[in-house]
Amino acid sequence: MTPSNDSVSNEAGPDSRRVRLRSALDGLPSYRPGRSATGGGAPAPFKISSNENPYPPLPGVEDAVVAAARSMNRYPDMFATELVAALADRFEVPAEHIATGTGSVGVLQQIVQACASEGDEVVYAWRSFEAYPIVVGVSGATSVRVPLDQDARHNLDAMADAITERTRLVLVCSPNNPTGPAVSRSELDAFLERVPRDVLVVLDEAYREFVRDPEAADGLEVYRRHRNLCVLRTFSKAYGLAGMRVGFAIAHDEIADALRKTAVPFGVSALAQVAAVTSLAQEEHLLERVEALVRERDRVAVALRDQGWNIPRTEANFVWLDLGDETDEFAQKCAESGIIVRPFSGEGCRVTVAEPEANNIVIRVAAEWIRQ
Ligand SMILES: *Cc1c(COP(=O)(O)O)cnc(C)c1O
Repeated sequence: MTPSNDSVSNEAGPDSRRVRLRSALDGLPSYRPGRSATGGGAPAPFKISSNENPYPPLPGVEDAVVAAARSMNRYPDMFATELVAALADRFEVPAEHIATGTGSVGVLQQIVQACASEGDEVVYAWRSFEAYPIVVGVSGATSVRVPLDQDARHNLDAMADAITERTRLVLVCSPNNPTGPAVSRSELDAFLERVPRDVLVVLDEAYREFVRDPEAADGLEVYRRHRNLCVLRTFSKAYGLAGMRVGFAIAHDEIADALRKTAVPFGVSALAQVAAVTSLAQEEHLLERVEALVRERDRVAVALRDQGWNIPRTEANFVWLDLGDETDEFAQKCAESGIIVRPFSGEGCRVTVAEPEANNIVIRVAAEWIRQ
């Protein structure tokens, strides 16, 4: 008998059992990307919900990607040799200490897969990056969330207290998404003194290029002193390549080696590799734009504080508005005014610093809100 389509797709068929999925997925949130700026009425609103760089890629980057596209019938260089060499040169680290992946979230997945599974614990601050609970949950490991302190900063003492024999990994997000503060060098040093040497600490520095506080920890400097520290960086934010999906880790041999083992083979496309290499070569120009965004960030933060908002110190390309129960209402008001922000219901809104025009709308809406 030949199986007919009917017998395969009919829900009331002879065997209606569902495919068995891992119970680790039960109740896991799906990653929610920032709302996009399409749809709706009038002029396309500014999308300031995903901490993207508002500027288009530099011309050299676009040309290199277009040229590379001609070879898309070929697999990319599996080891991203040229990119790894460029990064090793740029950061003055051995090439063996670098592992790449499909965005730093991809690298984070490689890290969790290399370190933790059922029965293990992963400690991180909360609220922090939304991808953490998902990546940890998918691995089967247990999330241990340690609340931020009243200044929306990591409470590294409480995080050290939360480490048990089951802890395999600690995630430190600096600057913290979505609240903005960075951990200081002295805080991080004191914390690392308390972490057992066989527990990996990941310092997620997705916004490192925007940091201006001289007291802030610099992962590259710290990793040289600690074999159990892994620095996570990305081309998605300051470098403006969010759509290309390329990030990397810097860590000692045995860790970087493990991350190469858990990587998706050929995950980082040839286009992404060439975009990243070209961007590194144009770093000076890119960093001018970052400098402009930092000035805008400080302008926005000062303006909001002058209006009476309590804005946590931000070292990233976004500001955090603590709105509590009024979060959704504020986000709605922003949407009506032409800006899409990122609400975290019941907590607050994260607002990306973008073009001055968009930032001016933020300042205006915030002023109206606080006056009402
Ligand atoms: C945006 C962001 C990333 C970057 O993700 P990619 O996968 O590299 O695009 C990583 N960590 C944090 C905390 C972020 O906010």
